[in-house]
Amino acid sequence: MSLLPDTPKRFVAGAKCPQCHAVDKVVMFRRGGVQYQACVSCGHQEEMVFEKNFRELETRVNRTADERRDETAVVRLVDPDSGKSG
Ligand SMILES: [Zn+2]
Repeated sequence: MSLLPDTPKRFVAGAKCPQCHAVDKVVMFRRGGVQYQACVSCGHQEEMVFEKNFRELETRVNRTADERRDETAVVRLVDPDSGKSG
């Protein structure tokens, strides 16, 4: 199993911090094969959850359908091509 390479922090256009709700203050980056999102406004940081990991996570964490839908919406913002027309 190979880990994806680390990436520098990159702002996500239109992303909103789940903690302070600041827009355009959220950065994405990858460390040790794990994708994180962090807020430069309040310092909030959390691990990103992708669909391929849901099955594993559901065995150890009870999540509501609403929470899963929210996470999916966040992942969609991370389209590398979405910033070109913005
Ligand atoms: Zn924040």
